[in-house]
Order: sequence, then structure tokens, then C-alpha cells
Amino acid sequence: MEQVSDQDGKSGWVFNIQRYSIQDGPGIRTTVFLKGCPLTCHWCSNPESQALHPELLYFDTQCTGCRKCLEVCLNGATLLGSDGEIVIDRKLCKACGVCVDACLSDARIISGELRTVDDVVSVVEKDSLFYRNSNGGVTFSGGEPTYQPAFLLELLKGCQGKGFHTCLDTCGYTQWSVLEEILEYVDLVLFDLKHMDPERHKKLTGVDNRLILDNVEQIVGMGKKIIIRVPLLPGVNDSAGNINALGNFTSNLSIKRLDLLPYHRLGVKKYERLGVDYKLGEVPSFKKEEVESVKKILAGFGLEVEIV
Ligand code: SF4
Ligand code: SF4
Repeated sequence: MEQVSDQDGKSGWVFNIQRYSIQDGPGIRTTVFLKGCPLTCHWCSNPESQALHPELLYFDTQCTGCRKCLEVCLNGATLLGSDGEIVIDRKLCKACGVCVDACLSDARIISGELRTVDDVVSVVEKDSLFYRNSNGGVTFSGGEPTYQPAFLLELLKGCQGKGFHTCLDTCGYTQWSVLEEILEYVDLVLFDLKHMDPERHKKLTGVDNRLILDNVEQIVGMGKKIIIRVPLLPGVNDSAGNINALGNFTSNLSIKRLDLLPYHRLGVKKYERLGVDYKLGEVPSFKKEEVESVKKILAGFGLEVEIV
């Protein structure tokens, strides 16, 4: 499989750093979102995380039509549509950010910034008091954080060196040799399992799940703390067959905890802002009792199940 190399690890692509996060591991945390992912999940709530390179996001509802972006774009990537609306030619856009600076309405932002390890660690360090008081720490998420392995490794070393509890939120699609080295500096793994069937997994994410399932077994085998996280999607991965396969797989490995993340549509608008299609289409949100019934089935396998 392809593994992205990220130079010497001193810097890497980050698209967000979220402070005071309470859903990405224990206690109060800072979550660092790294750009780039080997998967293309149809429901991804952070589509701007998938490409490794920076991208322009355009918020049409903020746009006042002043056309300043049109004047400053030297790449011909901002155009006028047939109705006089602002259109972006994504093939021509270099995400240079010139139009972002020119736009006085905050209708444009660049997602993805090259940041150094020292810079990121210094942001994480700002909330060290909260981590201490809440048994929190730092979580590396994405995208897929292991997609920039050298950068992630240095970030983890830097954070552990300061005594912070570290979580890795991963889709698990990484060569074991790479993951093994990274895990040395990880206190808790939040491991996403999206579908138990390899073919279905491939249709939904672009890759099959064999490497992912192998990596779960290897992580458990090395005695690392792990929580399985399942994005639960109606009509996609909530069938009795898949839930039972998930329960069997997880409990056979003596994994204790599994978190359910019910589907929501909060990320859908972002697809428009990026100029890409939302492949999942019209999937309804879950009713509370439907999620509770999945929880009950999984709890029957002896798992501690949380709805996040
Ligand atoms: S980011 Fe740069 S290339 Fe893209 S539309 Fe704006 S000015 Fe043009
Ligand atoms: S500069 Fe901003 S507000 Fe003006 S037309 Fe461009 S996107 Fe719209």
C-alpha cells in the first residue's frame, strides 16, 4: 500500500487544532487534526481532511458579491457563472490564499497549514492545567494522522515528553511496521471500525478492511489500551449481521469498550464549500431508540458500549 512520506517530520499539514475537546478520549483534551487520509468514506464529516494538500473552502452564504476575489486571482480559478455568481474552477485553484486575504466577508478560507512540531506542541501545552485536573491530554486525529507518520511521531514524542496523555484516533489503514513505531508513544488508541465485510468496506471507504482488522489484533496483542469506535449509519452498517459480526470480533479479542457514533449530517455543507459531491446521498438521522437497540445487541457480547 501507498504510504505518504513527510520529509523529516519537523513539520506537517494540520487543518485544525481544537481546544477543550471532550469527545476524543478521556478528560479535557486538545485535538490536533492532521490532513490526508488513505480512505474516502462517503459520510466523512471532515471532507477537507482527505487530501494532504491545502484546499480552498468557499462559503457562498457569506459572499456579498463584491468580486474582489475575481480581481486578485492570477490563476483564473475564480470566475463569474452564467447568473453572475462566483464560481471556482477547482482544477485551476492553487490554494494560494490571495483571494482569502482580499475577501472582507470571510467567505473564503484555506484548509490546511504547514506547521512545525514545536508550534503545535506549544498550542497543546497551553491547556496543560486542564489536562492535569481532568485526566485529559492530547488526541491526534484527522484525516488519518498516521498518513504523515514522521510528523505524527515527532508530535507524539514532543507531547509525551511534556507528560501529556496521548490518544491516537485512527482508521487503522497503515502498515504495521509504521503503526508499531508510532504506538510506542500512544497511551490510548481510538480505533474506527466502519464495516466488518471486506467488500462492503471497500465500496464505502475505497479500501477493504483486512489490514485494518489485522492491526486491531496486533494492537490488542501488544497490550495497548484500545477503544473501538463505530460510526453508525442507518442502512449502511447497522444490519443485524454486521452488528453481530462486530460484537463477535471485538469480544473475541477481549476488547472491553466500544463507542457508537450515530450518523449526523453536520458535515454535508462542507462538501459544497469544497466543490465535491456528497456520495452518501439522503440518509436519515437515527432515532434514539434505534441506536439504543444497537447498543443493547453489542452490550450482549459483554462490551461496555457508550453512545458518543
Ligand atoms: S486560492 Fe488562489 S488560486 Fe485559488 S481561487 Fe483564490 S486566488 Fe485563485
Ligand atoms: S471577495 Fe469574498 S465577498 Fe467578495 S465576491 Fe469574492 S468571495 Fe464574495
